[in-house]
Amino acid sequence: MIKVPRGTQDILPEQSFKWQTVESIIRDTCNVYQYKEIRTPIFEHTELFTRGVGDTTDIVQKEMYTFQDRGERSLTLRPEGTASTVRAYVEHKLFGLPDQPVKLYYMGPMFRYERQQAGRYRQFVQFGIEAIGSADSAVDAEVIALAMDVYKKAGLKNLKLVLNSLGDTESRTAHKEALVAHFSPRIDEFCGDCQKRLEKNPLRILDCKKDRDHELMGTAPKLTDYLNEESASYFERVKAYLDALDIPYELDPNLVRGLDYYNHTAFEIMSTASGFGAITTLAGGGRYNGLVEDLGGPSSPGIGFAMSIERLLLALEAEGVTLEDSSASDAYVIALGDSPKLEAMRIVKNLRDEGISAEMDYADRKLKAQMKSADRKKAKFVLILGEDELSNQTIQIKEMATGEQKLVGLSETVSYMQQKMNKEESR
Ligand code: ATP
Ligand code: MG
Repeated sequence: MIKVPRGTQDILPEQSFKWQTVESIIRDTCNVYQYKEIRTPIFEHTELFTRGVGDTTDIVQKEMYTFQDRGERSLTLRPEGTASTVRAYVEHKLFGLPDQPVKLYYMGPMFRYERQQAGRYRQFVQFGIEAIGSADSAVDAEVIALAMDVYKKAGLKNLKLVLNSLGDTESRTAHKEALVAHFSPRIDEFCGDCQKRLEKNPLRILDCKKDRDHELMGTAPKLTDYLNEESASYFERVKAYLDALDIPYELDPNLVRGLDYYNHTAFEIMSTASGFGAITTLAGGGRYNGLVEDLGGPSSPGIGFAMSIERLLLALEAEGVTLEDSSASDAYVIALGDSPKLEAMRIVKNLRDEGISAEMDYADRKLKAQMKSADRKKAKFVLILGEDELSNQTIQIKEMATGEQKLVGLSETVSYMQQKMNKEESR
């Protein structure tokens, strides 16, 4: 038997309604904040990610699905959305638009060759936003607020926002020297990756999952102590805006995030729900003032975040939040006999034409079996049409919630249902 590839999953109807609910919360929230959707290709030139994500990152070194196409180009299934969004911003000269920042969001599958565990897949769906073209610290606060809003609207309560500043280039260079001095004497106690990072990008040692408990980690020089005046005051303004928005945060000087291109604001949103597994990070993001230039555009500062829908749904489960399935059918039409079935087809069509969801039995089962079916499908109304009803030009309509049953004229079926559905909606 052929099964799904490791790290991927089928989302069956009993789950897909949850995805749809969350996706519509996301789209509504983006609309309220006036972020517009961008759709970019699922694969890109490999070079976009080696340059845009950074070749010292786990993503580029270990996790990319890279292949040669028949024209011998090296292509990669996108592992994240920022590089593609920034590429499009540059390629379509969105930096020339009069209104900056350009506020974009994306939602779609990403691919990373990772070890599968709860909350970690090889194909997962990321929602992310990017605000490109402004260095205003108020934008940082807006971006964080949008992410928090999505989680709150979905029903999550146990959330923690963790914040750090990575400073500007000058601050980072000073900090980098201090890190090298700190780790060098005992670097042989660290993993091979960290030994390489010491030279290339020592900051990333702090993000190592293998060595996170080494005693030198806790005592490492903190970037926040190396921020120059401009970086420090930028960070203060971001915090002041978050305070103004009543968004609480914790400071974590070791939060560096996995991608190379961040500077200034870096943040993660975690779930603090007790039922949650080992992976508690729901979303991560930050400012990337050099990325647009790195990808061939003018100097345009940007900030964004990404979250996966998979982890959002896991967090909802951990907190015991249930999402309602609003896709249950309004009307289940039961026809008993050949001529009633012919009429039932017409009724189902007329209901559907009016936007009332309706279905009928296609197995010619007995009344009882069809009633059970309607029950399982959580139909709101059951319409019963037998030979007797048909010859009297009537139909039985039963409201499942109340058990109330009425004999209605056949020609009034649709208007009766419309009236009932309106009442339901206004309740
Ligand atoms: P982690 O430290 O968990 O590997 P990361 O730093 O690789 O995370 P990002 O690249 O910043 O994560 O991606 C942002 C968000 O995307 C994460 O916070 C998480 O919600 C989600 N995410 C990342 N990788 C996966 C995955 N393999 N499966 C599901 N969700 C993922
Ligand atoms: Mg990762």
